[in-house]
Amino acid sequence: MKRTRFAPSPTGLLHLGNVYSALACEHWAKEHDAQILLRVEDIDFTRCKPKHTKQLLDDLAWLGISFDDMSFQQQRLALYEQVLQQLIDMDVLYPCFCTRKEVDAALLAQKEKGNVQQRGLDPYLGTCKQLDKQQQQQRMQKQAYAWRLDCEAVSQQIGRQCAWYDMQNHEHCFDVLEDIGDVIIGRKDIRFSYHLCVVVDDAKQGITHVIRGEDLRSSTPVHRVLQCLLNYKSPQYLHHKLITNQQGKRLAKSKASPALKSLRDSGATAKQVRKSLGF
Ligand code: GLU
Repeated sequence: MKRTRFAPSPTGLLHLGNVYSALACEHWAKEHDAQILLRVEDIDFTRCKPKHTKQLLDDLAWLGISFDDMSFQQQRLALYEQVLQQLIDMDVLYPCFCTRKEVDAALLAQKEKGNVQQRGLDPYLGTCKQLDKQQQQQRMQKQAYAWRLDCEAVSQQIGRQCAWYDMQNHEHCFDVLEDIGDVIIGRKDIRFSYHLCVVVDDAKQGITHVIRGEDLRSSTPVHRVLQCLLNYKSPQYLHHKLITNQQGKRLAKSKASPALKSLRDSGATAKQVRKSLGF
């Protein structure tokens, strides 16, 4: 059975960009006789609020999207912990004690020296990668830390060339050492990263097709690498266009962009909203 998911993070009100993703998932599911899951990605308890989850569920019901299933990441922490531990045991993660400020300062200093060897999604110069096991253990007793992906160790386990597949089954190749970087897999504050949870959930929830915005395309190689390490089947991916406002700017939740709620409050109908987005 084909199965996709809509996976919003309740950090604010749903805006038209999110609504576009939801409708694209619904449209694809109808066309392919597939199931659609609503996954509330509320893992970041510092930013996700129950009132946003409530509004999100209300907005989706108002739009008339019906889901075959629903899940909340906050209820799956034990599973993420187990998989994080599995990756630690595989020696593909290392603890990183650097603060964001330290990471940025090191990157800036490197740039000023004219050395622009910054790779991947979350460039990091590998300061904590130099620590040996004993030093790691000592610091872990005293200091907060994140877990970073050790791309060199990963490439030794799964090879350097990797690929993900789109909906047409086209291969998108990437280089594990060049295109990913030592991204954070276990966060210092909330323990689990988006990348970890999304990969675990897509696999455990039987997701065969992922439909999400173009802004997440650069995360797909990270997800693919985690799937390879964990021996998970990989879904096929579609990265849809991003909805922009009249000035051509991307609609981000943090900016003052049209929230679905305000359109509802001003009297728009679900049909009008769907039509304005081409559905
Ligand atoms: N939760 C993510 C977001 O709201 C989407 C995750 C995904 O589709 O993989 O941006």
